Amino acid sequence: MRTPTPRLLLAAVTVTALAACSGGGAVDGTPGGSGVRDPYFPKAGNGGYDVGHYDLTLDYDPGADTDTDADAGAGAGAGHLTGTATITARATRDLSAFNLDLKGLDVEKVAVEGRDARFNRAGQELTVRPADELDDGETFRVSVRYSGEPETITDPDDSEEGWLPTADGAVGLGEPTGSMAWFPGSHHPSDKATYDLAVTVPEGLGAVSNGELTQQRTRDGRTTFTWHTAEPMSSHVVTVAVGEWETDRSTTDDGLPVYTAVDPRQADASREVLKRIPDIMEWAEGNFGPYPFSSTGAIVDRAEDAGYALETQNRPYFPGAPDTVLLVHELAHQWYGNSVSPKTWQDMWLNEGFATYAEWLWAEDEGGDTAQETFDALYDGTYYADEAANESIWAFPPADPPDAAHISASPVYQRGAMVLHKIRETVGDDAFRDLLRGWAATHRHGNAGTEDFTAYVERSAPDEDFTEIWEDWLHGDGRPESR
Ligand SMILES: [Zn+2]
Repeated sequence: MRTPTPRLLLAAVTVTALAACSGGGAVDGTPGGSGVRDPYFPKAGNGGYDVGHYDLTLDYDPGADTDTDADAGAGAGAGHLTGTATITARATRDLSAFNLDLKGLDVEKVAVEGRDARFNRAGQELTVRPADELDDGETFRVSVRYSGEPETITDPDDSEEGWLPTADGAVGLGEPTGSMAWFPGSHHPSDKATYDLAVTVPEGLGAVSNGELTQQRTRDGRTTFTWHTAEPMSSHVVTVAVGEWETDRSTTDDGLPVYTAVDPRQADASREVLKRIPDIMEWAEGNFGPYPFSSTGAIVDRAEDAGYALETQNRPYFPGAPDTVLLVHELAHQWYGNSVSPKTWQDMWLNEGFATYAEWLWAEDEGGDTAQETFDALYDGTYYADEAANESIWAFPPADPPDAAHISASPVYQRGAMVLHKIRETVGDDAFRDLLRGWAATHRHGNAGTEDFTAYVERSAPDEDFTEIWEDWLHGDGRPESR
């Protein structure tokens, strides 16, 4: 802890100290920074500290919309959320202040190390000024008490994330930045952390999240579901899904817990496909290596509840019963995207290219089209019935989306998978399989970017030349001249 310096003195002291000691000696703290300079979402995440753990205590009422000045006539609205987030983090430099990302909601109180802290808000930035400055390397706890009607965020590509009201509750979906709609944090994949979530909802409803359910308790007409995630998780794949659920617990042959939660209206349509989870997990471990998390499963809501499926950690979220291929895609993301997380949102193709390639491999192993046939159909423009869809995959290089509205566009998926197929052609099937497993193992529970990937591939096959693949397929404009 640092004794606060009188305000007027601070600037002069800082300048002198910076000039005097080049070796990084003690200087007065500075604000931590409002973002980690992501090329697509510069305000996402925060500088100056590294989160280790989130402890979230939430209370949610789907019907109790107390926000009377907004959404008049919009039915039940987004309901009312009351939360306390206690975040354990380590300062990575001396800090006079630091930021958290939080969109909407009312902040009632912020404390650092148990002492009330001053705070102010500007857009998605909640700036916290601890009573005592934080020292570089110091572990600290910040707790934020907040409440209100959580927001649904419209992304640059017009999809919706954040807090989405559903027919019988709500769901939190966070790719790329939606989790700031329901809890304060460092909302960028480069800052992963472990989680404890306790969610209280009206009795009769369930609250499903990541990790493992450790406790369920009903008192005074409200039920609290407590979930624990021991492995690092990026906040964009954190979820809580509130609603009526038919839940099922089983285990794979290896003893991995499988927990599924299905909206009763989707139960019949989901039964057969969800039974395949153990088979898919076995297949995926065979191809990608040991599963990185402590449980698996799925959440199936109603089709109209969200516009897309998401690889929420441990158990992906589906609006409506998925088909097997979509289930394979989202489970493959547990290795590629969740355990190996992107360094920035520019690396999205490492998530989607791998998960798409997993679909191709699955089809090949199930006796459907080979990956080569899928690749050829995409290259020849016969993959989709629609001409414009076939053209769309050449709109930009997978590793260089033109802007934030395109990080989930088809080149990131299909052409990303085509890059992997070109590597497979170059190194052969056996080495490619080693590469899939090795990449997942090398960056397990970490972060990796495009340059890490190209360097890894080059190291793993030093006799091969990948220049053309990188230049034409990964970074090149338009359809490469030769397949
Ligand atoms: Zn995906």
